[in-house]
Amino acid sequence: MTYQIAVLPGDGIGPEIIEQAVRVLSALKLPLEIKQAPVGGTAYDQFGHPLPPETLATAQASHAILFGAVGDWKYDKLPRAHRPEQAILGLRKALGLFANLRPAILYPELANASSLKPEIVSGLDILILRELTGDIYFGQPRGTRDAPDGPFAGEPEGFDTMRYAKSEVSRIAHVGFQTARKRSGKLCSVDKANVLETSQFWRDVVLEVAKEYPDVELTHMYVDNAAMQLVRAPREFDVIVTGNLFGDILSDEAAMLTGSIGMLPSASLNETGQGLYEPSHGSAPDIAGQGVANPLATILSAAMMLRHSLNEDASANRIEAAVRAVLASGLRTADIYEPGTTKVGTAQMGDAVLEALSQG
Ligand code: NAD
Repeated sequence: MTYQIAVLPGDGIGPEIIEQAVRVLSALKLPLEIKQAPVGGTAYDQFGHPLPPETLATAQASHAILFGAVGDWKYDKLPRAHRPEQAILGLRKALGLFANLRPAILYPELANASSLKPEIVSGLDILILRELTGDIYFGQPRGTRDAPDGPFAGEPEGFDTMRYAKSEVSRIAHVGFQTARKRSGKLCSVDKANVLETSQFWRDVVLEVAKEYPDVELTHMYVDNAAMQLVRAPREFDVIVTGNLFGDILSDEAAMLTGSIGMLPSASLNETGQGLYEPSHGSAPDIAGQGVANPLATILSAAMMLRHSLNEDASANRIEAAVRAVLASGLRTADIYEPGTTKVGTAQMGDAVLEALSQG
């Protein structure tokens, strides 16, 4: 069995960081067939579209997609449909990627990078699971109109619709319980059930799904409290499952707990386990081409790909252990550098991970 991997480097630092992740994947000697394809602004420049049909076909035919980053300010004036970021939305839609996994890990060596006190965040290892294709972001109807009723009747108003179907909630809940099972067995479902009907419905469905996972400890928390607890005692959490809107905000909050955007991987999965794996950061046009970008978020995304789409857990663990070893040895890219450590560039960081892998 050969795994088909679509590699989409994209724009800005995308190609630099992807190069290092591909070196790491290749060193594992797994049966991988890697196909590269253009995406984002680079694809627009060549083919007039940020997600050309050939790229989409390559992605659809693959077991997993390793994605760099897209975007550059020079494309900001293009019509929305041609902007680089539309490639990600197009891939999510075409592949039905409804489950977004964002781990927030703070390696003890990087505890000073967080804006919180080291004793609160050091060793943090949580995972935010965000529903990605429903909720108020996609609910119809939406738009602007003259308010039909209420105290502002007749005035122009903007409106959106928050809605979740039962199957949408239950499939993300299943991913939540299964993910919790693979970790510490704790799942916290975040909602706003005290105010929102959609959230009460969410909670009822999660409780129903919970009956199938008696071994997982389920708790519920209102989103405003979750936002507070994440900065007060973030290590109390393990896996958090939540809807699209709340997950958007909480996953960024959790990312900032670590203080190092260059370290954070992410995964977006569909019902068959096919997934898109990408660093949580963008294309960083301000440092593109300088060879200074941190490739670790992308290398760790490759590890997530091995674990979640290819079931190659042992190889995923090897990559993560190699990254830990490199950090312990004191090597840092500029974004995570502090006095007393050794500053290295993108390729040297890749070299160091490869070296640690060969010794692991
Ligand atoms: P960004 O994440 O690209 O950069 C924010 C800051 O973090 C910059 O100072 C950058 O230099 C730094 N940074 C990011 N990744 C780094 C890394 N690996 N190593 C070292 N430093 C790193 O966000 P932005 O500047 O707001 O956006 C830039 C472009 O990226 C925009 O066009 C935006 O639309 C796009 N974007 C793309 C994605 C994606 O592809 N998934 C996500 C977010 C933003």
